[in-house]
Amino acid sequence: MAVHSDRSSVPTNNCKQQQPRSAYVHVPFCSRRCGYCNFSLVANRDDLIDHYLQAIEIELTGLGYPREVDTLFFGGGTPTHLSANAMQQLFEIVLRWFPLATDSEFSVEANPTNLSEDYTPLLAAAGVTRVSIGAQSFDPQKLKILERDHTARDIIEAAECVRRSNMDLSIDLIFGVPGEQINTWDHDLTSALALEPNHVSIYGLTFEKGTTFYSRQLRGELPPVTEDQELEMYISAIETLTGFLYEHYEVSNFAHKGHRCRHNERYWTHKNYYAVGPGASRFVDGVRETNHRSTTTYIKRILNGNSPVASREQLSPAASAREQIVFGLRRLEGIPLKAFHSKTGFEIPELLGAALWKHLDANLLSMDGGQLRLTSKGLLVSDCIWPDFLTE
Ligand code: SF4
Repeated sequence: MAVHSDRSSVPTNNCKQQQPRSAYVHVPFCSRRCGYCNFSLVANRDDLIDHYLQAIEIELTGLGYPREVDTLFFGGGTPTHLSANAMQQLFEIVLRWFPLATDSEFSVEANPTNLSEDYTPLLAAAGVTRVSIGAQSFDPQKLKILERDHTARDIIEAAECVRRSNMDLSIDLIFGVPGEQINTWDHDLTSALALEPNHVSIYGLTFEKGTTFYSRQLRGELPPVTEDQELEMYISAIETLTGFLYEHYEVSNFAHKGHRCRHNERYWTHKNYYAVGPGASRFVDGVRETNHRSTTTYIKRILNGNSPVASREQLSPAASAREQIVFGLRRLEGIPLKAFHSKTGFEIPELLGAALWKHLDANLLSMDGGQLRLTSKGLLVSDCIWPDFLTE
């Protein structure tokens, strides 16, 4: 089982839709690359930041006129790796093109070492409403294996800074790290809860091709935890977090009432959104476009007057509907069958056929009250279901 959220996976649709009310900005800078990470980023290349800012401004100019948004998300990389001055410039550029609507949500991903008493007020003053801290663990040995550059104390201090600036706090944690035992994971959960975050995201460690973790695993240097251990950790997280009144609203995400990540909900409910920066994928009018993943190629192309787009696709209506099912089922409330039919023109039982009945019979899915959703058994193995639904 892999319980993992994939930021690069994006839904698509071929119906003409409303103008997007959400935008994603990819900030591809980190001080170094953690061994398990395969996101689009450059490590220790701060010399590129000025050119990146120029490129973002040029890419946004292509919008023609400002587009008001309800949700804005700076992800990475590590957006807070930018100095206060560079972050200020990025805010000015982005907010000129994506002005925030009243009552909007503005999220920024952060590394614990970057957040200080001086830095967080800058975020709040620009309109940031929530900060998502990549804590991953509070355990020194686990942080060392993950090649993180921070300590538990850094996370605690960063969370205090976010709180003092009156922004919502989200904490990301990773489980299933080689050698990890359930008591280490339970300690991570209680340490995170002690910071009283409004939102918690948990991810099972995956060994992605192209990462140093992948090669080290092949060489036997990083023996993965067993599936049973991973399941035990996932179940423990669900019990602990729901016991503290966090709503388990998506496979990997938990929130206090009123604090779901509205931006990510746009992805899972297949809404349109803009995206800029290296490797960023946007979804507008049923077309998904993805920018060049390499930061240097992205910058070069834009500064030379070329398009940053590396791929463009428009799925068939059936393929789009299948994707909507997979993304929709990640949300625990599932998919309303009637609304799905009105939106896509497809009946789910006809579209999925035997694949649907197989998972209903195995009690991994339920279909009652006009809603298709994961069962608690299906939640634990959801990644095994999706390939059956994506294949025609
Ligand atoms: S800090 Fe985050 S984005 Fe940067 S290399 Fe580590 S895991 Fe990847």
